[in-house]
Order: sequence, then C-alpha cells, then structure tokens
Amino acid sequence: MKQATKFIHAGSEPDPSTGAIMTPIYQTSTYVQEAPGKNKGYEYARSQNPTRKALEDALAIIENGKFGLAFSSGVAATDAVIKLLKPGDEVIAANDMYGGTYRLFTKIFEKFGLKFHYVDMHDANNIKKYINRNTRLIWTESPTNPLMNICDIKAISDIAKENKAWVCVDNTFASPYLQNPLDLGADIVMHSSTKYLGGHSDVIQGSLSMNEASLREQLYFIQKSCGAVPGPMDCFLVLRGIKTLHIRMQRHCENGKIIAHWLRNNSKVGKVYWPGFEDHPGYAVAKKQMRDFGGMLSFTLKDDSVEKAMKVLSSTKLFSLAESLGGVESLINHPASMTHASIPKEERIKNGLTESLIRLSVGIEDANDLIEDLARAIG
Ligand SMILES: *Cc1c(COP(=O)(O)O)cnc(C)c1O
Repeated sequence: MKQATKFIHAGSEPDPSTGAIMTPIYQTSTYVQEAPGKNKGYEYARSQNPTRKALEDALAIIENGKFGLAFSSGVAATDAVIKLLKPGDEVIAANDMYGGTYRLFTKIFEKFGLKFHYVDMHDANNIKKYINRNTRLIWTESPTNPLMNICDIKAISDIAKENKAWVCVDNTFASPYLQNPLDLGADIVMHSSTKYLGGHSDVIQGSLSMNEASLREQLYFIQKSCGAVPGPMDCFLVLRGIKTLHIRMQRHCENGKIIAHWLRNNSKVGKVYWPGFEDHPGYAVAKKQMRDFGGMLSFTLKDDSVEKAMKVLSSTKLFSLAESLGGVESLINHPASMTHASIPKEERIKNGLTESLIRLSVGIEDANDLIEDLARAIG
C-alpha cells in the first residue's frame, strides 16, 4: 500500500458497536466483565483502551513496523526505552540530540548506574571506539536538533547488530513521511507525536514502533507498569493528525526549501543549516535515507551578535516565538535560551550551537507571506 493511503487508513476500522467511521474516544477507566477474567480483552484503561489501540496499530503501520505503543509524551516514550536497561549497561548517544533527552539521561538515569557516552555520529565509525561488552543501546537522531546534522542510520544499525546492541532512532524531525528507520535496520523508532504526527500544536504525546515481538512485550510491560499512558482524547487527536501527515509534510518540505534558499541568498544572513543543500556535509546520506528534506532549519546572522538575533526573534509576526515544532503554523525559536537551555553552555558551543543561532519550524502557510515576515524582521 502506498504511503498516502496508509496514513489515512492505518489503524482505522469502523467502530464495531455503531459503525462510526472515526474511532470513538473511549473515555473510560474500566470495563465491565461477565465473570472474573471473562472479558473482551479490555480490563483496565492503563493496560488497554480501544482508542489507544487504534492509534498504536497506526503507529506500527506508518513506520513499516509490526507493533506500536503510545505514551503520554515523547520523553515518556524515551524513558520507557531506557527502562529496558539495568545498572552497568551502557548507551552510546548522539552528542547533539534533543536537550530533554540529554537531561533525562544525565540527570535521571545516570544515578541509577547507567553509563552514557555522547558521540559525534556524523561518521558512524566514531561509535566503534565506545563499544564494549556492556553496550546495550545506541540512541540517535537524524536530522538533529537544531543543527540539522545527518547520521547514517543504516551504517549505525550495522555496527550495532555486529555488537548485539539495540538501535533506537528519534524520528521526530523527519516524521515517517520522510524516513523509516526500521527499514534501515533500527530496532525501535521513537516519536514526539506532539510534533508532526499530531501536527496541530494541541497535544503532548510520544510513540514507539518496532518489529520484534519480544521488544514489544518488554516495552508494553514497562508502559503498563510505569503508567505513562496517553488519554483517549489525546489518542484521537494524534490518530486524526496522522491522516493528513503526507499532505502537511509535502507543504512543510516545499516551504522549507523556499525559505532555506531565500535565507541563503540574503546578504544579512550568515550560515543556514538545512540538509537539502548540496554542500551540506550530510547531503548524500540524507538523499539516500530520506524522501525529501523537511521544514526544519536553523540560521545565524552575519552580524553574529546575540542582540541582533534577539531583535529578529522578537520582531516576526507570522513566525510565533515558541518552543516545539511540527505544527501547521510557523514557529521561531532561540535554542540556546529555550529548547536547549538544559545543555551546559560549554557543551552547547563545543557542538556548534552558538548563542546567536535561530531555529525555524516552517509551517504550511503561504511561503510568500512567510518570507515577507522574515524579511521585515531581518531588516
Ligand atoms: C519535542 C521532542 C522530544 C520530546 O517530546 P515531548 O513530546 O515534548 O515529551 C524528543 N525529541 C525531539 C527531537 C523533540 O523535538
């Protein structure tokens, strides 16, 4: 089945009790049983909910996987993956991943005896020197946030397989429209469904997709035991969002491309980070593993002062100054003080995330209006 058809029909069956074409919001905490243990597969809503089940079936299908699990946030989905591990286990993680993931690893999980190595994964071979017999998991993102670095998911997965480690890819920035890590050899795909899957900036949610039944069993056990499950209304919203993912992503990509080129040709703009430029260091890999280049990009100004960046950040009108991304409306963000403030300054600067970097989540408005807004702000 082609992607557009999949996104619309994944997980959706007419409701068995009424024929409702849209999966109802099963707002219930428990289910009446005929006799103890005799039920329709639904016992208690932390463990099972029909709206969540429809979404979880969809999460499997859209990532070309066999199983999907939904969580109350992207971070809760990440948390569940790390709970597969035990003290003494080691994780190799990308050195410029999402700030909240870094915070979870360093501030929460290190104290439970897990060891994390933060590695530049531009070149997959860099991973090799950190692998030892305790390595259980490689955690990566591509494109990365906010510098749009690309890593070769297939090369990383090959190295992991040789060493019997799992690979989990945070696929939030690409979305399943652009990239399917399970097809490239990853074991688990994680999403902040808050972003492109939901797509309308109205829900916080996370997801995991996988192929291995034993991984699904372990992660389902963690999901119900730790309890970070999304409510049925939120599941309905993400299920609805997925139905238009391909149409929205097409426009995000078109607009992203137009704005990336416009910025690059603007004499006041310094560097533009977008993986669709042929001279981007990750271009060849991006072209190989992605279907298009997305609507996320970052840039600096020629006048590389924090003051000038702050002025741009506070003078756009269509681009709203806010954290998050992937919604239909355009957002502008200052990673150093907003999304990435939880990463220590020296660490940030070492990775190229300067104080004057500006990140855009290009929405699906008219590209000319967006350019006019940026032109006015950049001055
Ligand atoms: C937002 C985000 C997360 C965290 O997801 P929440 O839904 O906010 O918990 C993880 N990874 C990336 C790349 C994100 O953008």
